[in-house]
Amino acid sequence: MHVLVVDDDHGDLDQVERVLKADPTLQYTLCDRPDRALNLLNKGGVDLLLLDIHMPGMDGLKMIQQVRSMQGEAWLPTIFMTGVLDAKSRARSLDAGGDAVLTKPIEAEVLMGQISAMRRLVEAQRRLKESRDEMEKIAREDNLTGILNRRGIDQELQQAIALSWRFNTPMSLLLIDVDRFKLFNDAHGHLAGDDVLRQVGKGLGRCMQRQSDVLGRFGGEEFILGLPATDQVGAAAVGQRVLETMKEINIATDTNPCGHVTVSIGISTLVPTGGPMDVSKRALDLLQVADQAMYEAKGAGGATIRSATVSELST
Ligand SMILES: [Mg+2]
Repeated sequence: MHVLVVDDDHGDLDQVERVLKADPTLQYTLCDRPDRALNLLNKGGVDLLLLDIHMPGMDGLKMIQQVRSMQGEAWLPTIFMTGVLDAKSRARSLDAGGDAVLTKPIEAEVLMGQISAMRRLVEAQRRLKESRDEMEKIAREDNLTGILNRRGIDQELQQAIALSWRFNTPMSLLLIDVDRFKLFNDAHGHLAGDDVLRQVGKGLGRCMQRQSDVLGRFGGEEFILGLPATDQVGAAAVGQRVLETMKEINIATDTNPCGHVTVSIGISTLVPTGGPMDVSKRALDLLQVADQAMYEAKGAGGATIRSATVSELST
């Protein structure tokens, strides 16, 4: 745990340092000026703030208000230190955003007790954030394939479209559907079918080019690969790679005339027109156009690609 101590009085800083030094699990930085302390806090890495109230320039109460406003949702535990401590000024310090107030001269046991209490709170906060992040991840994840689910796809696609509109770059979307999947399931059973979906998800992962690409299972045997900053030609190249990947994966079956599992791919490309962004409508356009193109690929016998541009087909 890293403690930042801010006090204009060097004697007081020395005294606090003696206490902190005794605990090898603590790192600390001493600072005699609030403006410098704010810079240090901005750089990050501080877990606990020990703050003198009476300082020239900016007192501790003003400083903590600035800290709280620049933190946003995060919380930096803060212990005030002061020589004067009547009930009124204690209340004022806590109102201003402090978590505890200690009276100078600082007693080692009291300070260490407060630090342990804050450490427990920091730890509890960290665990809470971890489980929140984990729940958020689960809510966006398809539990069969481990890639994004419908909800995750919607969120990521809308973000990608907003960026595409802002930077005036085309964006493409591949809708990938496993050919004759029902026949495969009937012949080989649903567990084998699940395995196909997992392998397709993994194979598509290998076809991603950039961190910003959006890969998810749209539902059933349908997958989405969203490609920001990619035009129709670039998207067709990725589509070819997907077809190649299915050959490499080579899941043998008599239910497909190719002798192995194949996919049909519909590609749609959105070219920003300068009109209103309306991300949910654009996302729907992309999906609908890709869906039409995918059915054309199916109609052509599967294991192939069809492409269309959204701006040509919708206004
Ligand atoms: Mg002072």
